[in-house]
Parts: sequence; C-alpha cells; structure tokens
Amino acid sequence: MTKTSEVKRVPRQPVIAVLGHVDHGKSSLLDFIRKSNVVDGEAGGITQRISAYEVEHKIADGSTKPITFLDTPGHAAFQSMRERGVEIADIAILIVSAEDGVKPQTVEALNSIRLSGIPFIVAINKIDKPGANIEKTKQSLSENEVYIEGYGGDVPAVNLSAKTGEGVPELLDMIILVSEIADLQTDPEKLGEGIVVESNRDIKKGISATCILRDGSIKKGQFITSGTAQAPIRIMENYLGKQIPEAIAPQPLKIIGWDELPEVGQTFKIFADRDSARQAVEAEKLSKKNVSGHVELDKKVCEVIIPVVVKADTGSSLEAVIQEIAKQRTDKVCTEIISSGIGNISENDIRLANGSIKAIVIGFSVDTDAPAKSLAERNEIDVKNFDIIYKMSEWL
Ligand code: GDP
Repeated sequence: MTKTSEVKRVPRQPVIAVLGHVDHGKSSLLDFIRKSNVVDGEAGGITQRISAYEVEHKIADGSTKPITFLDTPGHAAFQSMRERGVEIADIAILIVSAEDGVKPQTVEALNSIRLSGIPFIVAINKIDKPGANIEKTKQSLSENEVYIEGYGGDVPAVNLSAKTGEGVPELLDMIILVSEIADLQTDPEKLGEGIVVESNRDIKKGISATCILRDGSIKKGQFITSGTAQAPIRIMENYLGKQIPEAIAPQPLKIIGWDELPEVGQTFKIFADRDSARQAVEAEKLSKKNVSGHVELDKKVCEVIIPVVVKADTGSSLEAVIQEIAKQRTDKVCTEIISSGIGNISENDIRLANGSIKAIVIGFSVDTDAPAKSLAERNEIDVKNFDIIYKMSEWL
C-alpha cells in the first residue's frame, strides 16, 4: 500500500489471519474468540456470518484494544491474495495441534507466511486433550525451522485450547504486543483501498462483497471498483450487519450493489466520483483483454485439455476451487474451466458438460439437483461433490 504524509497517519488495529493444517482448530479458535470477545450485547446481533469480525480485548492496564480477525475458511483466500502480491493480514497465527505437531498444510501455511514477510505467532492448540504433547510439538516446529522463544529463536508461541479457552487471552495479549511493535498506521483522509475477501450473489439482495479496508476510509456517496466490478457506496454494513455511513481501515465491511461479482483476493479502490470509478473499470477491461491473448497461447502447448464445470456455495470457495483446479496440470494435460458459478449443480450445468468432449462437473459444498443427477447418469457425465479442498485436489 502506498505511503502518504506521515503527519496525517494515525495508529490502527491489526488484521489477523489464522492458518494451519486442516482439523488443527482454525475454525474453533475463531469461533471461540468471536463468541467471547465481540463487544457485549452485540454477539447476538450477528445474524449472518461475514468473513471477518472485530473484537475488543482488555489488556493488563485495563484499556481495551480492537483486533480484526479474518474468518476465512482455511488459508485458500490468504494464498490467493499472496499470489497476487497483496498483503491481507498484518499478523498471522500459525495454529498447530499439540496432538499431531507439524503437518503438510502447516508447512504450506508457513511458506505462505514467510513469503509475505509478516510477523507470526505460533498457537499450540488442543492442550486439553490427553494425547497433547507440547514438547514434541515444539520439537517438530524446530525441525521445520520455526524457532520459538525458549527453543533457540524469537517466534512467540502460546499454548492454548480453542475448546476450553485456556490460553486464548494470552494469545490476544501477544497479538496486541506484536502489533504495537509493528507500529501499524493509516491515513483516515485518504480514499480507501483494500482487498475483497468474500463475494456473494443473492437473488433478492443482489451482489455483495466483504471487503477489508487496508488503508484510508470509505464514505457513503463514494464509489468502489475491484477489477472490472464496481458499486456505488450506498449500502455499507459493518460485520454485525448494521448499516454504517463511513469506515476507517482496517474495518471489515459488506458492500452491497455491485454490477458483477468481484473476484476474491482482488484489491479494491475507492473513488470520489462515478466518472473516475468508470475510467478505472474501463482500463481494467482493456488490460484483461490483452492478458486473455496470452492464456490462449499457453493452452496450445497442452495436448489434452480436460473441460471442467465448477459450482460452489460462495464466491470465495469458487475462487479457491478454480485456483486449485488450475494447479492440476502437467506439460501435456491441462484443465479448462468452461463454466463456473454459485449454487447447486443443475440440469443446465450437465448440459454444458455434455459437449463433444465430455466435461467433468465439480461441486464444492453444494448439492446436485435430482434432475441433474439423472441427466448426468444418462449421458455418463462424471459429477463429483467435495466439502474439503485438499480432498478435491487428491481426487484430481
Ligand atoms: P480446522 O479444520 O482447522 O478449522 O479445525 P476445527 O476448528 O474444525 O477443529 C477440528 C476438530 O478439532 C473439531 O472437532 C474441534 O471440535 C476439535 N478441536 C479444535 N480445537 C480443539 C481444542 O483445543 N481441544 C479439543 N479437545 N478439541 C478441539
């Protein structure tokens, strides 16, 4: 993010991402923190879950400090943002189960964190379980070159249980400490910029996107663009679903009323007037046209192209699934997404898959409609449903 005049910059709260191996407790930790630390009386107000939330944490001197948590499933979104070279979080929590120690996705997460260069804190989770072995877990971290405090390094580590809550306040204290050292700032006068972390299409409400403001501010009456998508700032909600007239970084927000689904992991920009926003979108459309020419060239090297139809429950899952499918290629065999969308697998998806070369249909956290099932059987179309990304990757 660009730096502006030092004079205007004010301290800001940190944005935290929780990463780690599947089942090591990312969701449990995020749930525990959300339930126990969201400002009193407001927790009940969260009617629909957005992919980020804010908490107030009381520190030793009695003052409270705000923290923004990214509540994204796994680290797919985090990785996709990394691949675009943008930072979404200021601090990462690397969660490791004290029962299992470091696992393949712990290493993957670690690599992502190291690439981004942001500070991180190790959370050794599940210490309430009889099989927990903190020493062994610390050892396995050292073997993977994570040298925590007391083990020859300076990476902070906290032992905790996302189930009982033991150690969670200490983790939040540590987050505050690390963020104070990082000296995070923002300029509230600057037109906002940040990253889209989730996008959804709703028949009644239209297209909405959860956005993390990384710098500056957003006010009603301004305009937002992300890639080729744009929206006037008319309906802006905080993470509790309450309408707000303005926001300052790094507040998580939901902006409703986009003209198309913004891509997850894509940056966004705020403009003071409609014309500037429109110009930014036009420029983006032009550059996209040029890039698609290169994609065509790349496909020519593939001897076999497997067509794929993808359906997922949310924009962010769809993005993660598409990225994962794109990775599954060799020099001679590659995949081509011929159609993608949000919602159950329908008859129409099967029809699209039933071309001269039969496509495979992949659903992520969605169902297959009954008529679609029988149409697929009749035409021998392969339909696969998954709920976990790595299971899909294994199958692919
Ligand atoms: P994720 O895949 O990393 O998001 O992991 P989850 O949060 O879904 O946790 C996986 C399983 O471990 C669930 O059954 C949780 O209830 C359980 N779990 C997570 N943290 C703890 C913990 O600290 N103690 C115990 N006993 N169970 C935990």
